[in-house]
Amino acid sequence: MSQIQGLAAHAAGAELLPFRYDPGKLTSQEVEISISHCGVCHSDLHLIANDWGISQYPFIPGHEVVGAVTAVGADVKSLVVGQRVGLGWQSNSCGVCEWCTQGMENLCPSAEGTCVHRHGGYADKVRANARFVIPIPDALDSEHAAPLLCAGITVYNPMRTHGINPSSRVGIVGIGGLGHLAIQFARVFGAEVTAFSTSAAKEKEARELGAHNFINTRESKAMKEVAGSMDFILSTINADQDWSVYIQTLRPTGTLCFVGVPPSPVSLHASL
Ligand SMILES: [Zn+2]
Ligand SMILES: [Zn+2]
Repeated sequence: MSQIQGLAAHAAGAELLPFRYDPGKLTSQEVEISISHCGVCHSDLHLIANDWGISQYPFIPGHEVVGAVTAVGADVKSLVVGQRVGLGWQSNSCGVCEWCTQGMENLCPSAEGTCVHRHGGYADKVRANARFVIPIPDALDSEHAAPLLCAGITVYNPMRTHGINPSSRVGIVGIGGLGHLAIQFARVFGAEVTAFSTSAAKEKEARELGAHNFINTRESKAMKEVAGSMDFILSTINADQDWSVYIQTLRPTGTLCFVGVPPSPVSLHASL
């Protein structure tokens, strides 16, 4: 096998520079992907900066990969050379633990990221266990499919898990990389969708993406008017907020779900 050419950070926060590595022998369960597209996720920036204290350098980021299969291991039956595929955050797991056998491989104690302690998708090729390599439907363009592999699944999964349906009233907090996908998914689930943003300038975009309603969270009157109205609120932001206000926006049995990580611990009064 030839070397893989990528762009790597060689120290925390450093510029990405050309870097080659030898991937070794393809294992029996792996596939190699020739990368045509790779999304830019905020987690890549955190890893480049070593914000989570887990980065090892040199380090090639990238975990929203789309490309074509160029090699398959001896035991791979699900994919063929030439097939267009995607690879997201996770690239391997044990396959036999209680979590893997329930389809919750993300909880596997042996889970491996695509670009944590290994080299990711800002490269000409990447490898992964075939179970984490997903065929891309012909109807999806590669540049549209790539962001779905991390940002997309991050917002889709909680809506699926919490049973969002046409009777649901869903709030999406933050209209950025995650939020713009979350609005579209919530709309496709049939929900009544309310976008929450600190920026009034986001209203037009939020409505174009499918939001029925828009709340400027800097207007306390507008927040009070939607009190007790939401079944499910998905927070996509990485800033601190008065979360009690969002709790008060929920209906009885409602859920406030975090996919964005605020810098401070989330504190709430227990009586809310
Ligand atoms: Zn990501
Ligand atoms: Zn496992």
